[in-house]
Amino acid sequence: MSGAPAPAIILFGSPGSGKGTQAKLLGQCINGPHISTGDMLRSHIEAGDEIGCDSEKLLKAGKLVPDEWVNELVKERLAAPDCRTGVILDGYPRTLPQARVLMDLLARSGFRPAVIHLVVDYEKIVRRLSGRRQCPVCGTLYSLKTNPPKVPGICDLDGAALVTREDDRETVIRQRLSEYESLTRPLLDYFRKAGVPMFEINGAGAAPEEISGRICSQLEASGLAANRAEAAHPQTSVTP
Ligand code: ADP
Repeated sequence: MSGAPAPAIILFGSPGSGKGTQAKLLGQCINGPHISTGDMLRSHIEAGDEIGCDSEKLLKAGKLVPDEWVNELVKERLAAPDCRTGVILDGYPRTLPQARVLMDLLARSGFRPAVIHLVVDYEKIVRRLSGRRQCPVCGTLYSLKTNPPKVPGICDLDGAALVTREDDRETVIRQRLSEYESLTRPLLDYFRKAGVPMFEINGAGAAPEEISGRICSQLEASGLAANRAEAAHPQTSVTP
């Protein structure tokens, strides 16, 4: 990799803290793909391949899949040419062994990591996730309350019928939160000790676009993201 190190933005937070939504919106200031291990696993389940069949039960129960599987998926994905300018990681790493593998990979490939920690109260999360719908085709997430589709039950982008994820039922949500609390939350300490820049962002009480605006401002201020106006219109000059 040549030039300035590409940013590897790690979106961190409990299930339902808005990582997927923010990952999509961060495209305005980070030039690189959104890598979601949850979406990758769901595509394998849909394809019915070996990793999909092995993961399906675990996902439905709100349990994490073994580290080696996701480590391998991410390792392969990070080697793709579209990652050269940067990446937005959503839902990975989620355990200490995953974090160690990722930090090693990023260091060897010349990425500059930063953690965005989306903080949201757990009771709000349970309410949020049980009202969540997803497009099975493009993955876009909607919230019945704060971000509904224009036509009820239909994806704004491709017209597909929206679905409720099986793991968005309340008992499974609570299981996912407990996995987060015991296995994932401790990573904050690991990142702190490793000296990875970390930004705490309130993930509630504002529109998703406003939250992503705050994240981009922080990333721009620390030199991790290009200025948004420049990124959106690289060659345009302002006409009076
Ligand atoms: P959320 O962050 O809302 O829980 P995701 O789509 O990120 O949703 O993940 C859904 C499920 O996929 C998780 O509950 C887990 O079973 C599996 N999964 C996703 N990423 C990982 C990971 N990094 N390690 C282990 N399991 C994962």
